[in-house]
Amino acid sequence: MQPLKIVFLGTSASVPTKERGLPAVYLEYEGRRFLFDCGEGAQRQLLLAGKSPTSLDAIFITHYHGDHVFGLPGLLNSMELNGREKPLYIFAPASTLHRIRWLVHAIPFSPSFPLVWKPVKGREVLWEEKLFYIESYPLKHSTETYGYIFVERDRRKLLKDKLDELGVKDWKVYRKLKAGEEVEWNGAVLSPEDYTLLVKGRKVGYFVDTAPVEVPPVDYIIFDATFLESEREKAKETLHSTVKEAAEVAKRAGAKKLFLYHISPRYREEDPLLEEARKVFGNVEVARDLQEIVLT
Ligand SMILES: [Zn+2]
Ligand SMILES: [Zn+2]
Repeated sequence: MQPLKIVFLGTSASVPTKERGLPAVYLEYEGRRFLFDCGEGAQRQLLLAGKSPTSLDAIFITHYHGDHVFGLPGLLNSMELNGREKPLYIFAPASTLHRIRWLVHAIPFSPSFPLVWKPVKGREVLWEEKLFYIESYPLKHSTETYGYIFVERDRRKLLKDKLDELGVKDWKVYRKLKAGEEVEWNGAVLSPEDYTLLVKGRKVGYFVDTAPVEVPPVDYIIFDATFLESEREKAKETLHSTVKEAAEVAKRAGAKKLFLYHISPRYREEDPLLEEARKVFGNVEVARDLQEIVLT
């Protein structure tokens, strides 16, 4: 399997703290580089993480709130100064995309590269490649907001020993079996179930700034955990989630691991957050700035 790299660039909510910057998550796979949200300071965090801020392929914005977009003008300006040429795609909720464009162009800026704005509306596949795709997922917040799901496609691995036993050496047979098709060979029918192993692709969901919502099954879930249960009313009022609610969503989504994200600056210690989450969902971490995860 190809390594899938994720770096949490900023993990705070609304305002930065000494320990936490504002939301931005970097994801790298198969030579593609994506950013989910672009909070203030994201480009410097990319540098600190050893990632090139100017080589991103696309940026996916969850919604038009300052803590998720204030990093955009600076980052795009640096791309221009570095003479970037390849296109940059920016996905953002359809109803507020024009506001994000204003923000980017508030200071004179004429990009040296094609800047392609893509409105997001509902649940749709936004980026598609042979091995993976990225789709949007509607969330529940005070403005149109989307979560984003990275989906690695399932693939079939040839059971070479079994095929060798039969004496099959034909790449056309291999190709059909890998595509999940039956193949006739020497008067026999070879089925993909017998001669390949289905390797399930990995799914990563980024769902922040949302009240608790049902989400599709994912393996790794990065979820809004702005408040503790003691501030449940505040969470409800501001359409955010509590740690307990995040853990419940992760459990229902069948996730292997939960990362608590978008942490209110009022919480300086991780332990109370972990304690609350673990009552519901065991494999949990509080996302930290510059934390890099490599899923192999
Ligand atoms: Zn936020
Ligand atoms: Zn928000």
